[in-house]
Amino acid sequence: MRLIMYYQPVVSMRDGVASCQGVIGFEALIRMAHPQRGILTPAVFAEALDHPRLARRIGCFVLDAVLAQGEQWHRDGLPLRMSMNISARHLLDPEFLNDLRTVLAAHPDIAPEMCEIEVTESAPMLDFPRAQETLLVCNDLGLRIALDDFGTGSASLSYLQKLPAQTIKVDQSFVRNILNDPRDFAIVAGVMTTANMLGLDVIAEGVETIGHLQLLETLECHAMQGYLFAKPMPAGEVPAWVNNFNHLDYRSNSSTTAQNSAEYNE
Ligand code: C2E
Ligand code: CA
Ligand code: CA
Repeated sequence: MRLIMYYQPVVSMRDGVASCQGVIGFEALIRMAHPQRGILTPAVFAEALDHPRLARRIGCFVLDAVLAQGEQWHRDGLPLRMSMNISARHLLDPEFLNDLRTVLAAHPDIAPEMCEIEVTESAPMLDFPRAQETLLVCNDLGLRIALDDFGTGSASLSYLQKLPAQTIKVDQSFVRNILNDPRDFAIVAGVMTTANMLGLDVIAEGVETIGHLQLLETLECHAMQGYLFAKPMPAGEVPAWVNNFNHLDYRSNSSTTAQNSAEYNE
């Protein structure tokens, strides 16, 4: 059994915003390659990701694998932002910042500004002062911070006020229902207004249809991630996917093209 990273694009629907032809970057998502069962998603091994003895080892593997991959793409002329999910246990580990410095030093060809760590509410809920201090140092090192699954926890707004963050990822549970639940639409609209006033970027997660895309755009949410664009893919498929991506394919009269591109893999 082996751990590998898949990558899912975060795209911009606006001209000239993202550096790579409308692609802002990729979120790295861990997979387990099982000899009999094939490629397994974290749902099958979720406990391991936050396990006392495994979280740091897996976290270090992820940091190193993703920065090595990002460094390669940058050398190949693909300046993509690399986003990584950090478990609460690793973020709060006394060695986390050393691990981060070590891995940044080992991959000098990717700027820390092109790296983003995604954190959920679980770390600040366990130890707020340590999470806050650690994230401040991450910012000092140049890394961006994204608050993941935003809106699902109980303290999202207060964390927004107190944690250093550059990006909010609106949880897919809200995005999925914006078309038919006015309450979820109102929540996403509220997050957009708040984020704009605070100068934060917003990424809508779980964008699955053109209808979702269009409604998000009416809310001025232009950065998106979801199966509409692509499912997570092996690293080898990324360069061709980036080259083929054109946000104009997702305009109303080209919806067929967009639907086809979602069947890319996995
Ligand atoms: P997450 O960070 O919220 O990642 C987004 C999840 O939503 C991914 O599931 C992705 O494949 C899925 N997704 C993306 N777009 C869509 C969509 O349009 N529709 C639907 N239904 N799903 C979509 P995945 O890869 O199974 O990962 C699940 C969770 O496991 C992640 O949620 C994250 O919390 C955790 N995880 C993944 N990779 C890592 C890692 O390297 N380290 C750690 N600590 N946790 C990870
Ligand atoms: Ca994430
Ligand atoms: Ca998420």
